[in-house]
Amino acid sequence: MSNYNWCHNPDCHKIETQSRIRGTGDNKVLRTVKIKVGRYNYYNDNNPNIWDYFCNQNCLFQFLNKFCVEIANTYSVKQPSETPIKVKKETYDTYRYRHNEQGDYERMEVKATRKIIENNY
Ligand SMILES: [Zn+2]
Repeated sequence: MSNYNWCHNPDCHKIETQSRIRGTGDNKVLRTVKIKVGRYNYYNDNNPNIWDYFCNQNCLFQFLNKFCVEIANTYSVKQPSETPIKVKKETYDTYRYRHNEQGDYERMEVKATRKIIENNY
C-alpha cells in the first residue's frame, strides 16, 4: 500500500501549473501537490527524504524562506562547531598572466602553495 504526503509548502496550491488543476466544469481549483513517499528512495532503505515532503525545489525554498526564523530558532546554532583535521601544505607549479611593457599579456611560471586536508574525523 502506498503512502502519500501533501507538499508542505503552505503556498503550493497558489502556484499556477497544469498539474495542480483539479475539479470539473466551472469548479476548478489549484490543489496542493500529492507526493508519493519514497519516490526518490533509490536505495530502498526507507530513510526519510526531503522530497517526501516537498514537490520540488521551488516549494522547498518558499517554505524555508517563510519559516527560516522558526527553523533557526528550533535548531539554533549558538557557537561554531569544529572538526579536527590534519593539513599538509604543498607547493606546486602553475602560471599567471601579467601585462608586459608592450601592452600584451605575458604568461609567467610561478610557484604556488595549497593546503590539503589529509583526513577528517
Ligand atoms: Zn509544492
